[in-house]
This record gives sequence, structure tokens and C-alpha cells, in this order.
Amino acid sequence: MANKSENKPKSKAKKKMSLTNKIFIGLILGLIVGVIFNVLIPHSYVRDTVFVDGIFLVIGNGFIKLMKMLVVPLVFCSLVCGASSIGDTKSLGKVGGKTIVFYLCTTALAVSVAIGVSNIINPGIGLDMSSIKAADNVVSSDGTSIVDTILNIIPDNPFASLANGTMLQVIFFALIVGILLAKMGERAELISNLMNQFNELMMEMTTLVMNLAPVGVFCMIAKTFANLGFDAFLPLLKYMLSVVTSLGVQLFFVYMLLLFLFTRLNPFKFLKKFFPVMAFAFSTSTSNATIPMNIDTLEEKIGVSRKISSFTIPLGATINMDGTSIMQGCAVVFAAQAYGIDLGPREILTVIATATLASIGTAGIPSVGLVTLSMVFASVGLPIEAIALIMGIDRILDMLRTAVNITGDAVCTTVVAYQNKEFDKKTFNS
Ligand code: ASP
Repeated sequence: MANKSENKPKSKAKKKMSLTNKIFIGLILGLIVGVIFNVLIPHSYVRDTVFVDGIFLVIGNGFIKLMKMLVVPLVFCSLVCGASSIGDTKSLGKVGGKTIVFYLCTTALAVSVAIGVSNIINPGIGLDMSSIKAADNVVSSDGTSIVDTILNIIPDNPFASLANGTMLQVIFFALIVGILLAKMGERAELISNLMNQFNELMMEMTTLVMNLAPVGVFCMIAKTFANLGFDAFLPLLKYMLSVVTSLGVQLFFVYMLLLFLFTRLNPFKFLKKFFPVMAFAFSTSTSNATIPMNIDTLEEKIGVSRKISSFTIPLGATINMDGTSIMQGCAVVFAAQAYGIDLGPREILTVIATATLASIGTAGIPSVGLVTLSMVFASVGLPIEAIALIMGIDRILDMLRTAVNITGDAVCTTVVAYQNKEFDKKTFNS
């Protein structure tokens, strides 16, 4: 018996290691197969219907759906358990306050980086915008007001929020339930235990689904690259370059510097350990679906206690979209230059504020950043039609920005956990 239980953690660690490698291999193979399909294999029934829109689509989307299936129950339970285990409202408030300030500051910084970089690369200069078709059908121009964004956090009916997966409302309700469970103690022991056990169940299910990740990632990537190829990107290369450079600055400079300044942890080690989560976010373009893997990796490889991450990661996946706001900052400069509209300091401040708010309102699912972009464009009077051009290449940028979105959440979580002594350095150094 003793031997059995001693062997268990070892074999589990082995399995985890190999899963990471498998995901990475899936990513690279998917890229190679996708590019081969796009460049070398001509359109045919077998290529398009059987492979790209058949096998790749079904397995890839099936995998994403499995991950999405976990999100609402997992977030709800882990938040209730997280909030009730932090216990008193005071320390939860402290963690919450710090987290929200960190999230907002990094987002504002991200938009500023994007505007700065775009003004150096000048993506929109020399572009003829008259050829752009209107985007009316795809993007709604009515942005959500600030007041509505705030009021929408409170659910009319929490069960409807759970059923519809309205994350901010789910978070709000779960936090209140968790805090009250802690306060009620023995009086609500049954519900507390039920929540904890359901939480365990959801974690088991996550592990089960995660074993399919390598194949899912392979199919998603192969499909995307088979459809897009590289030629489609050429006219917008400079815009892409602005976004990619800004994302790089945010990821490798801003985050890593913040991580080092606040925790003195080795940023390269952090990135190496966190890479599988980024690869997953990259291939799925969905912050929401990445929540379970993010929490798991932070606990098992980085050393962040679930007490913190079960609260900060779902919150971050919902309100903290630094990568998305970077795309929006670059898109604003791109469109303004292409239309010959001058952006003064006042407009730039407006863009920073609206893009930060848009980040709160952007759901962590594919392409939503493009929808909330209309809110940012409208704030400085840019024509919504410009979004149609950007839309063509947004898929690949969505992948990149989602990876940055969730890394921002993880860095903040690590900093907050470190400061609240909910961090295990041994795990990080192992
Ligand atoms: N796909 C992004 C995410 O899930 C949101 C977006 O920018 O469209 O984080």
C-alpha cells in the first residue's frame, strides 16, 4: 500500500511532463501540416471537406467545446471555495483590490505601448481606405456605456447568468456565496462540503479533458493555417507588425519586469514553465477555456496557491485583456492614419480609457475584441468601416493576443500570491 502511494506522485509528474511536450509537438505539427495544406495541396473535396472542414474542424472545435463545458461549473465552484477559504472579507477585499488595480494599470500600460509602437511603425500611412467595404453586418456600432458596464456586473437572475455563462455576473454571485459560506461556518457545512467536492470533481474532469489537448491543438492550428496561409497577410503586414511588436514588448518587457520587481523570481523560468498554457491559449483564442489549465499550471509548476488563483484567474480571463487592448490601440492608430485623422493628446487619453474599459467588457472567447473595438473607434470618431479590413487578418492576431491576455492574468496572480504569502518557492524552483 505504502509503495503504491509513494509511486503515485512520481508517475503523475511524469505524465504531466509528457503532456506538455505533446502539446508543443501538436502545435508545431499543426503549423507544418496547415502550411503544407495551404501552399502545396490544391483545393479538392478531400482537402477541404474531409480534412480542413471535416476532421480538423470536428476534433479541434470538439476539444474547445469540452474545455468550454468545464468553464462555468469550474469557475463557480472554485470561486465559491476560494472566497470561502480566504475566509474573512478583509483579506479577500485586499486581494481583490490589489488584483483589480494591477489589472487596470497593466491594461492602460498595454494600450500606451501599442499607441507608441504604432506611431513608430506607422501602419496606416499610404493606405487607400476608399476600397474598404462597410462592416455593418458584422460589427455593431452601439458601444456599451460605462454606467451599463458597471451595472451589468449585478445579475438580474444568477441562475440565468450561470446558464448563459455571463462571467462577470457569475463571479459576482460566486464571491458573495463564498464569503457568506465562510461567515456562516457550521450552519452551512453541508453546502460547503458539497461545493468542495464538486470542485474536486471538476478538477478531475479538467485533467481528463486536458489529456486530449495535443490532438485538439494540432487540429485547431492545422485548420487555421490551412485556411489562411501567409499571402493573405501581406497588405496588412505593418499593422500586424505593430500588434506583434507591442505584444512582445508587453510580454517580454512589461510583464517580466513587473514579475522581477515584485517577486525577484526568474522571468525566463516563469515563461518556460508557463509556455504550455500560452500555447493552449494561442491555439484556441479563448481566455475562458484556458482558465482550468492556467490555475492548474500556476499551482503545480509555478507554486501559486489555488486560494488566490481560483479568484484572480477567472476574474482576469473576464476583465483583464491586455493583448486585446494592444490590438485596439494599434487599430486606432492604423485607422486614424489611413483616414488622415489627427489624434491629439485628448483623443489618445480617451483611447486609453475606452480600451481599458472595453477590455473589461470583452468576453474571453474568439474575436470579441473586434466587436468591442467599435466602442473604442466610436469614442474618437473613427469610421467603424475600417474594422472590416482588420477583420481579415484578425484570426492570427487573436491567437497571439489571447496568449498575452492570459499571461497578464498569471503574472498578476503570481505577484499577488507572492505578496500574500500564498506562494511556494520550492515548486517554482523545482
Ligand atoms: N480571444 C480573446 C480572448 O479570449 C478576446 C479577444 O480579444 O477577442 O482572450
